[in-house]
Amino acid sequence: MATATVGSVTRQIAALEISGSKPSSSIARPVHTKSISQPNVAKLLTKFAAPNLNQSQSNLSNLPPPPPSRSNTQSSIDIGRYDGGLELDNEKRGDLVSGEAAVELALDSSLSRTYPTQEWSLHSFDMGRPLGKGKFGRVYMVRTKTAPKYILALKTLYKSELVANKVEKQTRREIEIQQNLRHPHVLRLYGFFHDEKRIFLMLEFAGKGELYRQLSKVGSFTEKRSARYIDQMADALVYLHGKHVIHRDIKPENLLLGINGELKIADFGWSVHAPGLRRMTLCGTLDYLPPEMVEGKEHNEKVDHWALGVLTYEFMIGAPPFEDRKSVNNTYRRIARVDLKFPATISAEAKDLISKLLQYDPKQRLPLSEVLCHPWIVKYRSKASGSI
Ligand code: ATP
Ligand code: MG
Repeated sequence: MATATVGSVTRQIAALEISGSKPSSSIARPVHTKSISQPNVAKLLTKFAAPNLNQSQSNLSNLPPPPPSRSNTQSSIDIGRYDGGLELDNEKRGDLVSGEAAVELALDSSLSRTYPTQEWSLHSFDMGRPLGKGKFGRVYMVRTKTAPKYILALKTLYKSELVANKVEKQTRREIEIQQNLRHPHVLRLYGFFHDEKRIFLMLEFAGKGELYRQLSKVGSFTEKRSARYIDQMADALVYLHGKHVIHRDIKPENLLLGINGELKIADFGWSVHAPGLRRMTLCGTLDYLPPEMVEGKEHNEKVDHWALGVLTYEFMIGAPPFEDRKSVNNTYRRIARVDLKFPATISAEAKDLISKLLQYDPKQRLPLSEVLCHPWIVKYRSKASGSI
């Protein structure tokens, strides 16, 4: 078994950050989204945001029309003003990609063998307000021009930038994995298409934006709010692990919120299909890495159980448990020693759950089925599932 030195781990983490990952501790983030001011928008969006249900339909053209609305039309949802950002970007950004990478990135869901969708292009959408800027391109709120005029998030990725960061294979894998996932707490990818320079992802619209932003705003969540998010996370992870998908990069930055405040796991950039094979790749942000990964050992789906424990802690305390702002090496040591300390304000039940997830030995970490019936989770579970 390979053992990584502190130095080599630090170098790999540094390399990850150069390639664009954000340190999870940086609270100062650009605020992209402006709140929707129209009355009844939440209700309308619940109807016209393309649904994410546990269902077999695979593309938008197969989905049922939204229920009739008394306020009459889909166009009463304000998708906001388009700022022309895609055209502006396209003038300055992105070289043409050729050779093997061009083949790798010629991604079009209409040609997918497992889940073919209809042919899409930029002309299929009315463009709305900017939702944010990703590492490789902008994200916009859009509406399909054809009925039932669903609301979506359209994310652009510049092919040449993917190639420059050597993530073309990873991106392809992320897209292939996400297209096959259907769960209320996993952000849906409805389809994708490309042009010469860009790939476009048609994503489920997460109306309340980034969970990270909410956490930064309030500092920490109440036990009730934390427990409800963790309940939804555990439910989604049962689904993912059942499909042999390990997420490997669970952290607040990769979680979005639906219009009713329900959690959506996004960003499958580091996920892997684990067909029995354990992976030894080092990835993710140090704060959320389990001991076996910082020590460069083999790992399996239990890395997500560990991250769930870290997430529970960060929700309630406002910072991850092993964080050391001064030294990455100290964080590494604290993780390897499972140096876990709780402030007095945390309830005994919450401490119990976190301690059972943050076990050094992956085999000892609480199974997800037991997370779902843990007293702390059950106590706060809402009868109307989904919302918080
Ligand atoms: P980053 O490294 O900044 O996270 P990224 O390449 O992972 O970049 P995303 O996080 O997917 O890009 O998108 C950038 C921002 O766009 C998000 O932080 C979020 O504010 C917004 N956004 C992305 N997808 C959606 C969505 N489906 N619904 C609503 N907003 C979204
Ligand atoms: Mg992201």
